Amino acid sequence: MERVRIVSLKGIRNRQSAMIRAGQMEAARVWTVCRDMHIAARQEHGQWPKRDALQKATKGRFSLHSQSVQMVTHAFLANVDTAQQLRTQSRTKIRYPYKDKTFYPLIWPAQAMHLRDKRIVLPMGRGHASLVVPRPDWLTEKAACRIVWNGVHNELHVTLSKPDTPPMDLSSLETTGRQATVDLGQIHQAAVATNTGEALVVSGRGLRSLKRQHSKQLGEMASKRARCTKGSRRWRKLSKTRATLTLRCERRVRDLRHKGTRQVVDFCKKRGIEALFVGNPDGIRRKNSGRHHNQRISQWEYGRDIDYLQQKSEQDRIVCFIGDERGTSSQCPVCGHRHKPKGRNWRCKVCGFEGHRDIVGAVNMHPIAYGQVVPFPKRITYLRPGSLRRSSSPDTGHRPDSSGRRCLAKARNQAPRDVCAGSLEHAHEPCDSARSLPALAG
Ligand SMILES: [Zn+2]
Repeated sequence: MERVRIVSLKGIRNRQSAMIRAGQMEAARVWTVCRDMHIAARQEHGQWPKRDALQKATKGRFSLHSQSVQMVTHAFLANVDTAQQLRTQSRTKIRYPYKDKTFYPLIWPAQAMHLRDKRIVLPMGRGHASLVVPRPDWLTEKAACRIVWNGVHNELHVTLSKPDTPPMDLSSLETTGRQATVDLGQIHQAAVATNTGEALVVSGRGLRSLKRQHSKQLGEMASKRARCTKGSRRWRKLSKTRATLTLRCERRVRDLRHKGTRQVVDFCKKRGIEALFVGNPDGIRRKNSGRHHNQRISQWEYGRDIDYLQQKSEQDRIVCFIGDERGTSSQCPVCGHRHKPKGRNWRCKVCGFEGHRDIVGAVNMHPIAYGQVVPFPKRITYLRPGSLRRSSSPDTGHRPDSSGRRCLAKARNQAPRDVCAGSLEHAHEPCDSARSLPALAG
């Protein structure tokens, strides 16, 4: 399993920033060459360029480390593969890479980088000085690195690979027979129902309010920028503020999302759950529900929730699988009567059943996922993902005992503080578009 840790490169020198910038522009040129070859092949109905052809065409032409160039071509091919897969799933609006790129992240595989004392040395190609950045304490062996611009400053993404755990499937389960289902939502990030009569609801209101706040901030910025001349000093200042706010919002949302999904997996682990079914709410996306609700829906990143749940349950040896959840939240778990609920409570007009709306959805998933009807849980645990003001989660790299670690920017510019509100250094699972598509079970 891979885990990506992010190190801020906020405090690096101007000369190094310039090197990174030039390198990123060079990497973009590599991408453009690959794209041009691919487009030409498609137009001539010839064979699409493969790995060898792209590597041959880009070899020795760019002022980057040879392996960095290769990594760009690999990323390009992964991109083409993903587009091809999506198009075969009748999503014909997906296009093959066609845009001009000005910047592209700098990538080094583990074998290309070096560790020297307290520094990471990242080679920039023959005849060019290497990029040297401070090395965090936790980096003890060679690891793949990537320098990414996050809108405000550069970040170093270090990929740490852990020994792979053997894959699990439903047949390899021990036989406690404890199973759970998860209903993802916005007001409640996740509602879990087990077949042992217990339930968990994790609030998503914190997440939603962060996003609402960010939308309002963007609106404010847009109206201020509308009064400026495009490209003026004030306009540029406002653009920078906007990028800073966006970055902060992203960080806080990611932190809360990790904490919320961690609550779900911890709850399951404590109760000896062996299989977790996650309902995929894909159908809701395509419905038009008016501009206010559409904004809420489009900001709802349930794909991330599913990703994080899968990764965390794999760590804790729980089998996690995904399936369709259509119609589960509009059916009475007692008599099967269908109606669309209003408000947070599900009230049945036929049999008089009353219960938590999202738990109803989760309970109704049991027959779909496991072919087993479970009674409505008697005990419901309500939790919040965690405090926004305190960062202490094993998933975000902020353990309470992390006082020995410091971010690079702080190490250089400031005295260390105990609490780092806008976490500069955190870990998250890779979320590349080039990753393999989620397999839909059921
Ligand atoms: Zn009923």
